[in-house]
Amino acid sequence: MAVLWLDEIGADDLESVGGKAASLGELTAAGLPVPPGFVVTAGTYRRFIEDTGIDEELFEAVDVDADDSKALAEAEARAKELILETEIPEDLKEEILASYEEVGDEAFVAVRSSATAEDLPDASFAGQQETFLNVTGEDLLDRVKRCWASLFTQRATYYREQQGFDHDVVDIAVVVQQMVAAEKSGVMFTSHPSTGEPKIIIEAAWGLGEGVVSGSVTPDNYVIDRASGEVTDVEVADKKTMYDKDPETGETDEIEVPEDKRTERVLSEAEIDRLCELGEQVEDHYDTPQDVEWAIFEGEVYMLQSRPITTIADSDGEAATADGSGAKQASKSDEDGDVLLSGLGASPGIASGAVRIVDKLDQLDKVGEGDIIVTEMTTPDMVPAMKRAAGIVTSEGGMTSHAAIVARELGAPAVVGTGGATETLSDDQMVTLDGDKGTIREGVETSEETEPIEEARPKTPVKPMTATEVKVNVSIPEAAERAAATGADGVGLLRIEHMILSTNKTPERYIEDHGEEAYVQEIIDGVRNVADEFYPRPVRVRTLDAPTDEFRQLEGGEDEPHEHNPMLGYRGIRRSLDRPELFKHELEAFRQLWEMGYDNVELMLPLVNDVEDVTRAKALMKEVGIDPAKRRWGVMIETPAAALGVEKMAQTGIDFASFGTNDLTQYTLAVDRNNENVAGRFDELHPGVLELISQTIQTCREYDVDTSICGQAGSKPRMVNHLVNEGATSISANIDAVRDVQHEVKRIEQKLILDSVR
Ligand code: PEP
Ligand code: MG
Repeated sequence: MAVLWLDEIGADDLESVGGKAASLGELTAAGLPVPPGFVVTAGTYRRFIEDTGIDEELFEAVDVDADDSKALAEAEARAKELILETEIPEDLKEEILASYEEVGDEAFVAVRSSATAEDLPDASFAGQQETFLNVTGEDLLDRVKRCWASLFTQRATYYREQQGFDHDVVDIAVVVQQMVAAEKSGVMFTSHPSTGEPKIIIEAAWGLGEGVVSGSVTPDNYVIDRASGEVTDVEVADKKTMYDKDPETGETDEIEVPEDKRTERVLSEAEIDRLCELGEQVEDHYDTPQDVEWAIFEGEVYMLQSRPITTIADSDGEAATADGSGAKQASKSDEDGDVLLSGLGASPGIASGAVRIVDKLDQLDKVGEGDIIVTEMTTPDMVPAMKRAAGIVTSEGGMTSHAAIVARELGAPAVVGTGGATETLSDDQMVTLDGDKGTIREGVETSEETEPIEEARPKTPVKPMTATEVKVNVSIPEAAERAAATGADGVGLLRIEHMILSTNKTPERYIEDHGEEAYVQEIIDGVRNVADEFYPRPVRVRTLDAPTDEFRQLEGGEDEPHEHNPMLGYRGIRRSLDRPELFKHELEAFRQLWEMGYDNVELMLPLVNDVEDVTRAKALMKEVGIDPAKRRWGVMIETPAAALGVEKMAQTGIDFASFGTNDLTQYTLAVDRNNENVAGRFDELHPGVLELISQTIQTCREYDVDTSICGQAGSKPRMVNHLVNEGATSISANIDAVRDVQHEVKRIEQKLILDSVR
């Protein structure tokens, strides 16, 4: 039998129908209203590749070195060609088409992959496989084959290689299910997703559910007390867009919500009652709280998917996991210790340990687990030592310096800009640093171990729904896991400097020693770490922007020019445009990542001044084979010239502009961000900076260009307030600030809505 009907299968059939289909089968059997459909089983895929004899060639084609992106791309293309160009055996074809007829004559169906290797994480593996909506009989077999072929995308192949799964043991089933031409749809949590309290939470929007599930549409939110059945909270969102079927082509389109329905409440009391009834039933069936996708068509509620909620905290309120190896951070502060030094509290937390003064790179070995690094200024090469350290103290630098940024990402307490830490402190001295107050005290204070990833995980996992997206900044790929644990809507800035500089060589020297391909691969691997962690949430990757003084620390750095003020010097896009051959290698890495299927990657250009910088960069993108019209790319607004000239840049087709307030502030106020003598004058909330931001947002809105912030100020409530009020599209914050920023954004948005109705 090539197919099994949903009403014939259940959880025991996981191996032959995959996780998605098995769960639909379970729901059907429990009497829940699931749209009718069938599954082209994993065995059918097997028979297809074996009976037609393509199996050997297929598995040989995908047996490649996972680190060779070219080979991965070729493997994907060959596998797809083999599968798409090979005829499905006649008897299988007939059975699939006959089953389709049974679903309905000329019915529109959804065709979805249902992976059988469910132990592979969704985001990195199953999530990559194909789904086709509104398919008719004519295209059905082709779409089924495309689902099969999606087992061999570059990402999937790479992932299996990395995880040690053989390519020939992973099978794929395909669900073919009647489409519900949803008028309304959304998700429902049958119990509170963080506390497990008996509350049903429903999110609802107009049209098909794709928008709610992917997060691109802000839905209404309803909270229902399960005991009384009462709706205790309703938040009606401004629903600007919805997903719908194009009546002519059958394709799924994102369209504007008609004006009169934008702020109209989606669900009636009766519909909420029915959803709750089904929610109770499905939770009873599984005996555990569920996260359900649902749709409503002509007054009928349908259930499209159900999965257990995994975010509910244990009864003691602790989130699960923690595998040891935590940073050593003190939890209790002792106000009586003698303050030896003070500076800027750059990364919160308290840490005690032995001082290790580091002034040359070869002294990094002396930094052991739990020590306190004390240095003039950190450099990218110090990151491995910074990871071992319990805390970081620098003499130089401000809140936006390298040390501050990296320490925050590592979750290590830090005090920067102390003036003379390397002279005042001495090796082996026991000290306690307070990253909130910016002090270093004599002696050790009681310490407790904490786990940086768990620290980053929101204490209340219910994410405040906001129309303004809240993203997170990542500077070292190793922080990706912590960053993803925050539940942010994506990465607003991924700095690639560390991927290069942590090799301890300048790009030029790296290429001299290892070749161009290895350089491209270094970037691809670094970005991939983060893009995988966040997929399908967007990751905005910035091209190289390191000042010459950072390059000078590295092998090959002796060739770097000496500059009076590197911050005003040879960095960012100006350096890239001056060395186009080198820049093209970075662009080539983007091209390959996109080709591999990392469609969540976006490209961002740093330190542009005017439209000429942008058009020259765009021309180089085209030279390496990137079609800028098909990819999401944009610029950072970091100089007053860029802010004032954004209109012309908007006309070049950029998709977004992101405020780099660390630089925008230093260039607007003439305050070197790395100079502790003027740190007191570094004010991102200065009216001059705020005015440049307001003007830029206004112009970008006219051109439908998204606006965002990725400078450190995005973590400050007053800046968040300014941006949301001015209409920025997103805000990218530090790992430790994401949850607070989400709440702040929500509060401001609610105030805006209230003001508009008052
Ligand atoms: C900025 O300037 O605000 C920014 C985010 O870039 P960087 O800190 O890397 O210069
Ligand atoms: Mg900058």
